[in-house]
Amino acid sequence: MTDLQQTLIEQLGDQCVSFDAGVLEAHAGDWSDAPRRSPQLVLTPRTPADVARALGLLSRLKQKVVVQGGLTGLAGGATPQAGEVAMSLAKMNAIEEFDQLGGTITVEAGLSLEQLQTHVEAQGWFFPLDLGARGSCQIGGNAATNAGGNRVVRFGVMRDLILGMEVALADGTVLTMMNKVTKNTTGIDLKQLFIGSEGILGVITRLVLKLEPKPTVSNTALCALGSFESATLLLKELRRGLPALSSFELMWDDFITAAMDVGGLKAPFATRSPVYVLVETLGAAEESERQALEAVLEAALENGIVDDVIVAQSLDHARQLWAYRETVGELLGKLKPHAAFDVGLPMTAMDGFVTTMKSTLTKRFPEQTHLFFGHLGDGNLHLLSGPYADPAAMHEVEARVYEQVRDAGGCISAEHGIGVIKQEFLHLSRSPAETDLMRKLKGLLDPSGILNDARVIAGPREDDSSAAIH
Ligand SMILES: Cc1cc2nc3c(=O)[nH]c(=O)nc-3n(C[C@H](O)[C@H](O)[C@H](O)COP(=O)(O)OP(=O)(O)OC[C@H]3O[C@@H](n4cnc5c(N)ncnc54)[C@H](O)[C@@H]3O)c2cc1C
Repeated sequence: MTDLQQTLIEQLGDQCVSFDAGVLEAHAGDWSDAPRRSPQLVLTPRTPADVARALGLLSRLKQKVVVQGGLTGLAGGATPQAGEVAMSLAKMNAIEEFDQLGGTITVEAGLSLEQLQTHVEAQGWFFPLDLGARGSCQIGGNAATNAGGNRVVRFGVMRDLILGMEVALADGTVLTMMNKVTKNTTGIDLKQLFIGSEGILGVITRLVLKLEPKPTVSNTALCALGSFESATLLLKELRRGLPALSSFELMWDDFITAAMDVGGLKAPFATRSPVYVLVETLGAAEESERQALEAVLEAALENGIVDDVIVAQSLDHARQLWAYRETVGELLGKLKPHAAFDVGLPMTAMDGFVTTMKSTLTKRFPEQTHLFFGHLGDGNLHLLSGPYADPAAMHEVEARVYEQVRDAGGCISAEHGIGVIKQEFLHLSRSPAETDLMRKLKGLLDPSGILNDARVIAGPREDDSSAAIH
């Protein structure tokens, strides 16, 4: 046993420390293609106090640590680097308080998104964040990455759903900010610093989340459209006519074909169309919401915005329509090693971006698959491109895509974060002054640099200031 292992066991108890080979391998990486590496050991604190105690100790030992939630991240942030220990929040999944009057819930950060959704729905409440990795990703990981997902167009991103938070800083200091009210103007809202900071500033241990009354009715429709422009017109019409609109998921034809292939699904329509949109409403008025949806879709069919429509006739039918979009997990697996992009683009630039990138990538990498899909209402476009056996080829794709994003006035990450795999491209989205301030904050909150070091912001770099978007 090493000195570090012995000290950690003495201080934290052997229940919290594991160096079993199988456990180390299970904590060797997230869902991204960042190279897997087993940590020295895995810490599994059971309480927020354990987290603080462990961090205090690691800080004194100057031992680097990587924070791990459900390991579904796509940016390599939770993947261990040389010499790091891993701190997994998996055993911290308690539901501490459920305020059914105010519609808030207080949970530990290691609770999975799906466990939370199921728990509140059983009691007539609803936590609107939803993403394909719901079964494994943790609420703390969702907060650390400021996750988005399928319902942002109506309910916002994770940041919009967090009222309060507790964070353990690298030296073991605990910031308890368990606010439960929507309006709080008592100085700087410090929790915002940690949302989306990917674990480089502190470990999120507990959260207070805002709930919605559980919708009792949902409607789902899959639409076939002739162009991206038609999709933007449909979105506008749906927003105008349907306050219950909760999802508007755009998929290009290649994506649907790949989804059919990997998921064993039938073609949704008799003929193919350039783009498809999956629409969902969530509400409480069965007849009027269905009628409103059908009215907008009928008008869209009549005036040629939409070519064809399938409206789900049952919950099972709705699941069948969602199945195309939900094959993303399988596609991510099938196209490994892949480059998975989650860029943000102004609506006006998205179509041109897709056309240019499709043609550039298909010419340059004809053997690879390049699939485009996205959350149109949020200006968030995904591109899944692979497999790339040659890392240099993957790097070339990343550079081409991110430079094009910069030129289009977008951002290089709208959902998954920077982690390790996008660090070298951060300057395309953030100015030197911004990254400098991020580094200063990191230095202030983690002076020894033990926490998720060398992620998001690497060491000082020679920035080309003309490349940054202001
Ligand atoms: C099939 C699939 C679909 C996905 N769909 C979406 C989507 O629609 N929208 C979306 O936004 N993302 C999506 N993702 C990405 C991923 O699920 C999210 O980023 C998720 O929020 C990560 O949560 P996690 O618990 O798995 O975090 P991890 O992968 O474990 O960690 C992610 C980052 O957060 C840090 N971290 C984790 N927990 C904490 C904590 N408690 N305190 C401080 N830092 C912490 C880690 O160090 C790391 O930097 C998808 C992933 C997959 C595999």
